[in-house]
Amino acid sequence: IVRYQDVHKSFGDVEVLKGIDLDIKPAEKVAVIGPSGSGKTTIIRMLMTLEQPTAGSIIVDGKNLWHMKKGDQLVPANEKHLRQVRGDIGMVFQHFNLFPHMTILENCMSAPVHVQKEDKSSARERSIEMLEKVGLGDKLDNYPSQLSGGQKQRVAMARALVMRPKIMLFDEVTSALDPELVGEVLEVIREIAKEGEMAMVLVTHEMEFARDIADRIVFLDNGVIAEQGPPMEVLENSENERLQSFLHRFR
Ligand code: ATP
Repeated sequence: IVRYQDVHKSFGDVEVLKGIDLDIKPAEKVAVIGPSGSGKTTIIRMLMTLEQPTAGSIIVDGKNLWHMKKGDQLVPANEKHLRQVRGDIGMVFQHFNLFPHMTILENCMSAPVHVQKEDKSSARERSIEMLEKVGLGDKLDNYPSQLSGGQKQRVAMARALVMRPKIMLFDEVTSALDPELVGEVLEVIREIAKEGEMAMVLVTHEMEFARDIADRIVFLDNGVIAEQGPPMEVLENSENERLQSFLHRFR
């Protein structure tokens, strides 16, 4: 469902990604691990079209997000096309990004109603269903400020799920949380993963969680995919020294 082909990304003079090739199948769960600054967030922001690659191509559901213009400059695909792709992708960020002046039900209804022009009653029904799924059925009329960090993050997940994405992106969704709130958020992700049909890309520092949930772990280092494979292979049996020393920090 997603294909990165020789994707490069520079910020100014610094080349952060140096040729990424990555295929993600429908329903596949991929965990991306790697040292701070290795470009994990950049990889998933490019999928959401929040960053543009410097070279290479990213194809989502058969659609190329960027076109090669004359010379060798990449330009975004047309806006309609990008909107369609974004509609297939849900993203949950490290910092919840909820609308503070809306109740959590309104937060969930906002995109279906205003972006997808869905009628309010069906958006409302599905939002309630998703909020119940993340265990917040009793908080519909609360505002984000009245919730714990873990609850806010669960709202952010419900809000993404309401859009029925084909692909869900999770960017270090537990790293801004107090340790005692991490478990409840990971549990919800586990449940969503179990349902199966969505592809998921998770940037995470939670190695146990990655091992449990992922079909494949991708280790990013120095701008390239230095290792990838099934969790046991990558986490237990890799001979890559950089990976071993990275993993050592979590033991
Ligand atoms: P972390 O685990 O710390 O979140 P990461 O692997 O997700 O790191 P990225 O956030 O993708 O790394 O960033 C990769 C590099 O690109 C970093 O060195 C960062 O400073 C740089 N970078 C990211 N976004 C920008 C930007 N908009 N402008 C300039 N540099 C950027």
